[in-house]
Amino acid sequence: MSEPTLVSYTSIRRWLRCGRAQEFYLMGRETPIPGRMLAGSVFHAALCRRWVKPEDDQEEYIRIACAVLAKGEVPEGMRLEHWNGQVLGDAPDPEPIIGAYQLYVRTYPTTPALVEHVFERTVDLDLFPVVLWGVVDAVDAWGNIIDYKFSSQVPDMAQLALYAFGMGKPISNCHAYHLCQPDAVQVIPLSWDEETLQNYLHQVVRPVARALRYGVFPARTDGWWCSEKRCAYYSMCVARRTI
Ligand code: SF4
Repeated sequence: MSEPTLVSYTSIRRWLRCGRAQEFYLMGRETPIPGRMLAGSVFHAALCRRWVKPEDDQEEYIRIACAVLAKGEVPEGMRLEHWNGQVLGDAPDPEPIIGAYQLYVRTYPTTPALVEHVFERTVDLDLFPVVLWGVVDAVDAWGNIIDYKFSSQVPDMAQLALYAFGMGKPISNCHAYHLCQPDAVQVIPLSWDEETLQNYLHQVVRPVARALRYGVFPARTDGWWCSEKRCAYYSMCVARRTI
């Protein structure tokens, strides 16, 4: 049996945006991490820490984490999202993160059953062995998958569906808790059905798994991701869009 190919929602999404960016990521190319991603990472860490370390003052943790990031270091226990790299971008302002944290805790004080839960599931795609993996922010007492969002961006249903599938849950009963700043937290239901999930697995996950397996990383310069603002690898990429 050959080694399985590991795929995650993040690797699928990154490859779909641009294969070259995924290649840079796998190569471990260091790059500045945008401040908005750092803010999201601090927000996630504080929400998870309140269950793991309830005795700590999480608002103080947010201030300390931002101060550590400002020195170019990664705070203890914090997972950086999306990009390999150095913390060289703008350090996030702690106050908006504290405001979002307070809003979330006030609105959803529910104790989760699982926090930062890692899942793995073998997927049969009529290919070589493929393992889908990921980290779920939290699962509540009713089995709903919770994905903390710092932004007001509408969550991608594919992410939630893959998390549900990866955890062996029926996708008809999953919700994302979604923070819409500045004044509301929304619970957004997963709108996919089983057929939509199967189509996604075979029409999207399958070709991306093949590309990752065989090292196919095409540069994609036609979308808005290919810009200095959106792509963390812009400065080092010779394929980048030049107009
Ligand atoms: S600069 Fe453009 S082509 Fe290069 S990695 Fe980024 S998105 Fe891809």
